Amino acid sequence: MRRSGTPFDAWLADDPEVADLVGQEADRQSTTLQLIASENFTSPAVLAAVGSVLTNKYSEGYPGRRYYGGNRVIDEVEELARRRACALFGAEHANVQPHAGANANLAAYQALLQPGDTVLAMRLDQGGHLTHGSPASITSHIWRFVAYGLTPASDDPEAPGEVIDFDQVAALAKTERPKLIVAGATAYPRVIDPEPFREIADSVGALLMFDLAHPAGLVAGGAHPSPVGIADVVTLTTHKTLRGPRGGAILCRADLAKAIDSAVFPGLQGGPLEHVVAGKAVCFAEAMTPAFRAYAAAVVDNTRALAAGLAAEGIRLVSGGTDNHLVLVDLRPFDAELTGKEAQEVLDRSGITLNRNTIPDDPRSAFVTSGLRLGAAAETTAGMGPGEMARIAALIARCLRSRAEEEALGAVRREVAELCAAFPPYPMLVSGATGTERG
Ligand SMILES: *Cc1c(COP(=O)(O)O)cnc(C)c1O
Repeated sequence: MRRSGTPFDAWLADDPEVADLVGQEADRQSTTLQLIASENFTSPAVLAAVGSVLTNKYSEGYPGRRYYGGNRVIDEVEELARRRACALFGAEHANVQPHAGANANLAAYQALLQPGDTVLAMRLDQGGHLTHGSPASITSHIWRFVAYGLTPASDDPEAPGEVIDFDQVAALAKTERPKLIVAGATAYPRVIDPEPFREIADSVGALLMFDLAHPAGLVAGGAHPSPVGIADVVTLTTHKTLRGPRGGAILCRADLAKAIDSAVFPGLQGGPLEHVVAGKAVCFAEAMTPAFRAYAAAVVDNTRALAAGLAAEGIRLVSGGTDNHLVLVDLRPFDAELTGKEAQEVLDRSGITLNRNTIPDDPRSAFVTSGLRLGAAAETTAGMGPGEMARIAALIARCLRSRAEEEALGAVRREVAELCAAFPPYPMLVSGATGTERG
């Protein structure tokens, strides 16, 4: 039977070109290792919700306050998603309409700031996100961003450094007087404790936003401390560790609800994607189950095993390790000549998918880099454990060491395929199948 990438294979067959591409992508996701830290395998229920007739409905506005008729059912869908988001995270208010994490951040800034206001956020080249004030992002054109960074690396194994420098955050808060402090990162392998950020924000009368895009699933599953109730606003994505459809959400206190809602619509977006909102509702419910708690704990265990395996191969880990779903590696001690770009490309050819990433004080450009970012969230969903993570680490090192030898790379590719075959992410998705049992 042929592998399928959708629960609606029979209907997609009406467009053979798109059907073929979806099938090819299902093959790629199932036969190569998915180690991109911001990706996951969503459930068949999420896929089905996103593929539903809810995509047909225009529903500008919010439940009970829509601009178009016919929104009785859509109101219930969005209410359900909002209620579940609040229950999952213990939030007073949830906006589930942001089309993506970037939109959620823009809306939060628009709700909390005036143009020109100062925002203190994490340096991009040390783990921050584009929407935290990159010169390439519109955020930096509207608001004035000041960046904090990490402590320097040290040779002391007990205190390896490269963690958020709270002394620097506090000092910058004092001198720059930001209206808003942003906590959260896109390439940071440690727990981000919201408490010291809250203390610093309070000491200068700043608001605190926590960008939970990456660890939302770890917080939902109880593996990381929650910033909800500590930060004024929490933004998140639903498609990273939370394992839902591609999208964003905002959680906030009741007194900020109106400002947040108006910033999302009509401030930033038009009609919401209610089929995706339904998928978000599904993932919020999934994240409330004991199985998801076990998943979040397994992600952390697996990432630790991956990190230990890489370290054993002589690959340096930024900050000396990991507490979350990702590791950031510095390739220079392993091979001074090897760039992140070349490593990403050679691993890709061996069926190992990850991304190059700048490391703190990277001497190379953001396009070339000296580092790699790897995550275990997706393959943990597929059922892999610490044993497989150790094997993956060894395969990565073998691939990088023998990157000029086609034969050796072919052998790695075959072992990767074997490993993937034992952990199919969508065993229920084959052409003609109807069941949704998850293996
Ligand atoms: C991924 C990410 C975002 C943006 O998410 P998109 O859905 O890609 O727009 C925002 N902030 C952080 C910290 C992220 O990691």
